[in-house]
Amino acid sequence: MASSSPIFRFAPSPNGRLHLGHAYSALMNERLAKRLGGTLLLRIEDIDLARCRPEFEQGIRDDLAWLGIGFKPQVRRQSLHFDDYRRALDRLDAMGLVYPCFCSRQEVKDDVRRCEAEAGKRWPRDPDGAPLYPGTCRSLGEAELRRRREAGEPHVLRLAMDRALARAAGERLSYRLFDEAGEERDIRVDPARWGDVVLARKDVPTSYHLSVVVDDALQNVSHVVRGKDLEAATDIHLLLQHLLGLAVPRYHFHRLLSDETGQKLAKSRLSRALADLRAEGVTPEAIRQQLGFT
Ligand code: GLU
Repeated sequence: MASSSPIFRFAPSPNGRLHLGHAYSALMNERLAKRLGGTLLLRIEDIDLARCRPEFEQGIRDDLAWLGIGFKPQVRRQSLHFDDYRRALDRLDAMGLVYPCFCSRQEVKDDVRRCEAEAGKRWPRDPDGAPLYPGTCRSLGEAELRRRREAGEPHVLRLAMDRALARAAGERLSYRLFDEAGEERDIRVDPARWGDVVLARKDVPTSYHLSVVVDDALQNVSHVVRGKDLEAATDIHLLLQHLLGLAVPRYHFHRLLSDETGQKLAKSRLSRALADLRAEGVTPEAIRQQLGFT
């Protein structure tokens, strides 16, 4: 049931230890939720069972408790809800908007190179800089599809972007962007720039894009506050929300923190963990002050 009071969520992935950038994101959620008289949910985005670990999840909970951020007690853990994502995928499939793709990463690279050679120009890139999927498996015949599926060939499921857009044709796909002062404006999206995105991975029966829109809707999230690195991906989310008939939250994209060398903080670069700062005796008050939340 839709709630009238605003609902925010912080949605970390337990595939590493949280750093100051995560603290910033959680604190920004806390600040904006408070400002609008809303509640804050914690969602553990652990669909990647190979990379997510219980000790990282425990670490997240310890860090957030230490920072003193008040979440609603009920935590949603995505790995317990694969059925919800499956149902959404089935609906898209029933609309004819999903197709299996058997390409390996190397095959995609090779195909892109071939397309570039044929066209004599650079193949289009998505907003994250990756080449758009060149469509190799988009038109496999029924017989070949059946043969490869029956042979158990690993595959991802992709969204047929052109068909998805055709289905959404005429709809003004846009969301309300809000700033810290509560000002809002309309943002028109352009999902085509992402091409045929993956909706279910080879090793995981869903994807970030699919599970995030399903969960934001199931949890009645009204305000999404997350880093600018996910701003462009919101175009895909808008399209999926439209296709699945889901409510569109308002969005705010906060700045990303950098380290002393100007590099963006990232788990993959082993940016200093909150747990280490804590062990060194840094206080949560000092963290709040450093990040501008006092
Ligand atoms: N789980 C994502 C991350 O840790 C955040 C997803 C989101 O806020 O939409 O980067």
